[in-house]
Amino acid sequence: MASIPLYKTQELKIYNSITGQKETFTPLTEGNVGMYVCGPTVYSNVHLGNCRTFISFDLVFRYLKHLGYKVRYVRNITDAGHLESDADEGEDKVSKKARIEQLEPMEIVQRYTLDFHNILAKFNNIPPSIEPTATGHIVEQIEIIKTILDKGFAYEANGSVYFDVKKFNETNHYGKLSGRNIEELIANTRELTAQSDKKNPQDFALWKKAEPQHIMRWPSPWSDGFPGWHLECTVMSTKYLGEQFDIHGGGMDLKFPHHECEIAQGEAATGQSPVNYWMHANMLTLNGKKMSKSTGNIISPAEIFSGDNSILSKAFAPTVARFFMLQAHYRSVLDFSSDALEASEKGFIRLMEALETLKSIKASEVTNGFDITKWVDNCYDAMNDDFNSPILIANLFEAVKFINTLKEEKASISKEDLTTLTEHLNTFVFDVLGLVNLNEASSDTSDKLSGTVELLIKLRAEARANKDFATGDKIRDELLALGIQLKDGREGTTFTVN
Ligand code: AMP
Ligand code: ZN
Repeated sequence: MASIPLYKTQELKIYNSITGQKETFTPLTEGNVGMYVCGPTVYSNVHLGNCRTFISFDLVFRYLKHLGYKVRYVRNITDAGHLESDADEGEDKVSKKARIEQLEPMEIVQRYTLDFHNILAKFNNIPPSIEPTATGHIVEQIEIIKTILDKGFAYEANGSVYFDVKKFNETNHYGKLSGRNIEELIANTRELTAQSDKKNPQDFALWKKAEPQHIMRWPSPWSDGFPGWHLECTVMSTKYLGEQFDIHGGGMDLKFPHHECEIAQGEAATGQSPVNYWMHANMLTLNGKKMSKSTGNIISPAEIFSGDNSILSKAFAPTVARFFMLQAHYRSVLDFSSDALEASEKGFIRLMEALETLKSIKASEVTNGFDITKWVDNCYDAMNDDFNSPILIANLFEAVKFINTLKEEKASISKEDLTTLTEHLNTFVFDVLGLVNLNEASSDTSDKLSGTVELLIKLRAEARANKDFATGDKIRDELLALGIQLKDGREGTTFTVN
């Protein structure tokens, strides 16, 4: 008999940024979730602040999957169209980096996309289901601009196309996500500069005509140019999740203007609001200020892993940094410090030790000193309350305390409860929170390394037996270059790793 999926019995509540309320989560299609999260602009290495947002949504992705939903998680890569200023001015961030480094823009994109993937893999983030790029969806962006123009919510000026915010606001509500009032915005903003093609400063670019020096350009009915930054997310979310979908996420700083503009574009093109639940992850700060590439107030993941930064007392494993971030709720600001990271590391070690201890606990007739059923409920209640990972972790430490009293034989546990406790602890720690047991991870890696070197030793022996000494020597020398030394002896070949 097929088991009932957990989502049928667990009522998940999500804080919806657009209503300011925690709402019961009901997807558009039962059992399926469509989730879109704004991805990085790939013109520089990710900093720890960026990682926090992506870890927050990895937690959401993991928990939805744990509840038994089939989740299609789309996260884009911004590789064109993101200008230096939100007012549609300045250079394209990717082009600028390409110009400074004298590389092709796509070399910049490749380099930083790889960095992004490598770092998120270190944090044990699960890759999204689809990771589309802005440059891969130029045709679709041109099509949606035509639709918005046809519906009368945009205008062309000198080869560029702008979204007409004032016109849109006559029939819709621009500002409903960020709580801004368009009339006030218009009243309080400076006059447009003489060279601006916009009717109002709030209008935003759907298509920009490229200046002669702008290298990332595509033909369109209006000019050789490039799409406005906000458009790619509307196009890619619609293409892969539909005109209406369940969850849209991103960092708090994207609420305005980026997400406000996405709502406007979606409503203008389709007549309906694109997103049912808007989720915004809060910022990681350093010295009380937002970590931000532009101000240089950042710490990089590489520095955390190596300890190579004067504000760090030592190096920290990626999973410890992940644990540190999950000890705060995703909607709270989290301030980074080496001391806080050290405290998290102590807690993390205590948690892993308890999991190890649990393996050797013997069951008794009855459970004494802990209500396992209630504990499981408390863990789910925490996650169902808008993914409250700090409360979940507090509950995990209740279990740690109990495990330690079991070890001291001051409490007892029945066979059935021991199974329930073990299964749920492992599920919450590894599947839902996505933590990694460092001891197991390193022994797994060394097993794989030994297996690989043994295989190469065997291939070398075969090559030598066939008098192919060149291949045999190549294997030996290249392994040596990697710090792996082969030693031929009477008992066969052994190796050492330096
Ligand atoms: P960007 O590449 O600048 O578009 O940023 C990628 C993601 O990182 C966005 O969702 C931002 O909201 C998020 N982000 C940027 N700075 C921080 C920070 N200090 N803390 C948390 N998230 C951030
Ligand atoms: Zn976006």
